[in-house]
Amino acid sequence: MNKLNISGSKCVHCGACTAACKGGALKMEAESWTISYNELLCTNCSACVKACPSRALSLQAQIRRTYVSGKNLPQVYENR
Ligand code: SF4
Ligand code: SF4
Repeated sequence: MNKLNISGSKCVHCGACTAACKGGALKMEAESWTISYNELLCTNCSACVKACPSRALSLQAQIRRTYVSGKNLPQVYENR
Protein backbone atom coordinates (compact mmCIF):
# COMPACT_ATOMS: atom_id res chain seq x y z
CA MET A 1 0.00 0.00 0.00
CA ASN A 2 1.07 3.57 -0.64
CA LYS A 3 0.86 6.32 1.89
CA LEU A 4 -0.39 9.84 1.21
CA ASN A 5 2.04 12.68 1.80
CA ILE A 6 0.65 16.15 2.37
CA SER A 7 2.81 19.21 1.84
CA GLY A 8 1.58 21.79 4.30
CA SER A 9 3.49 24.57 2.59
CA LYS A 10 1.76 23.94 -0.76
CA CYS A 11 -1.76 23.43 0.59
CA VAL A 12 -4.13 26.37 0.05
CA HIS A 13 -6.91 24.74 2.13
CA CYS A 14 -9.40 24.60 -0.72
CA GLY A 15 -10.99 21.33 0.38
CA ALA A 16 -10.94 19.74 -3.09
CA CYS A 17 -9.17 16.66 -1.78
CA THR A 18 -11.66 16.06 1.02
CA ALA A 19 -14.52 16.37 -1.46
CA ALA A 20 -12.84 13.92 -3.83
CA CYS A 21 -12.13 11.33 -1.14
CA LYS A 22 -15.08 8.96 -1.13
CA GLY A 23 -13.66 6.74 1.58
CA GLY A 24 -13.61 9.42 4.25
CA ALA A 25 -9.85 9.19 4.68
CA LEU A 26 -9.36 12.95 4.39
CA LYS A 27 -10.97 15.56 6.57
CA MET A 28 -10.52 19.30 6.92
CA GLU A 29 -9.99 20.23 10.55
CA ALA A 30 -12.43 23.00 11.38
CA GLU A 31 -10.23 25.05 13.68
CA SER A 32 -6.82 24.74 12.08
CA TRP A 33 -7.93 24.36 8.42
CA THR A 34 -5.42 21.58 8.04
CA ILE A 35 -6.02 18.23 6.35
CA SER A 36 -6.09 15.12 8.49
CA TYR A 37 -5.40 11.76 6.88
CA ASN A 38 -6.61 8.37 8.11
CA GLU A 39 -4.37 5.79 6.48
CA LEU A 40 -6.68 2.95 7.50
CA LEU A 41 -9.53 4.34 5.40
CA CYS A 42 -7.40 5.14 2.35
CA THR A 43 -7.97 2.92 -0.69
CA ASN A 44 -5.07 4.40 -2.68
CA CYS A 45 -7.46 5.56 -5.39
CA SER A 46 -5.43 8.77 -5.96
CA ALA A 47 -8.56 10.89 -6.53
CA CYS A 48 -7.30 13.43 -4.02
CA VAL A 49 -3.93 13.72 -5.76
CA LYS A 50 -5.67 14.46 -9.07
CA ALA A 51 -8.09 16.92 -7.46
CA CYS A 52 -5.46 19.02 -5.70
CA PRO A 53 -4.81 22.25 -7.62
CA SER A 54 -1.58 22.91 -5.71
CA ARG A 55 0.11 19.56 -6.15
CA ALA A 56 0.32 19.32 -2.40
CA LEU A 57 -0.49 15.61 -2.34
CA SER A 58 1.48 12.57 -3.43
CA LEU A 59 1.20 8.84 -2.89
CA GLN A 60 4.47 7.18 -2.01
CA ALA A 61 5.40 3.56 -1.52
CA GLN A 62 5.96 2.56 2.06
CA ILE A 63 9.21 0.82 2.77
CA ARG A 64 9.02 -1.81 5.46
CA ARG A 65 12.03 -3.49 6.96
CA THR A 66 11.86 -6.88 8.53
CA TYR A 67 14.28 -9.58 9.52
CA VAL A 68 14.42 -13.07 8.08
CA SER A 69 14.02 -15.60 10.86
CA GLY A 70 17.29 -17.31 11.77
CA LYS A 71 19.47 -15.20 9.46
CA ASN A 72 18.99 -11.80 11.06
CA LEU A 73 19.49 -10.08 7.70
CA PRO A 74 17.46 -7.00 6.80
CA GLN A 75 14.99 -7.42 3.93
CA VAL A 76 13.27 -4.49 2.30
CA TYR A 77 9.73 -4.96 1.04
CA GLU A 78 8.29 -2.23 -1.09
CA ASN A 79 4.50 -2.26 -1.05
CA ARG A 80 2.95 -0.96 -4.28
S1 SF4 B 1 -5.99 8.11 -2.27
FE1 SF4 B 1 -8.25 8.02 -2.44
S2 SF4 B 1 -8.95 7.08 -0.51
FE2 SF4 B 1 -6.83 7.74 -0.20
S3 SF4 B 1 -6.98 9.77 0.73
FE3 SF4 B 1 -6.83 10.06 -1.52
S4 SF4 B 1 -8.94 10.15 -2.29
FE4 SF4 B 1 -8.99 9.30 -0.18
S1 SF4 C 1 -6.83 19.82 -2.55
FE1 SF4 C 1 -4.67 20.31 -2.15
S2 SF4 C 1 -4.65 22.52 -1.73
FE2 SF4 C 1 -6.77 21.83 -1.52
S3 SF4 C 1 -7.03 21.33 0.68
FE3 SF4 C 1 -6.42 19.44 -0.36
S4 SF4 C 1 -4.16 19.37 -0.16
FE4 SF4 C 1 -4.79 21.48 0.27
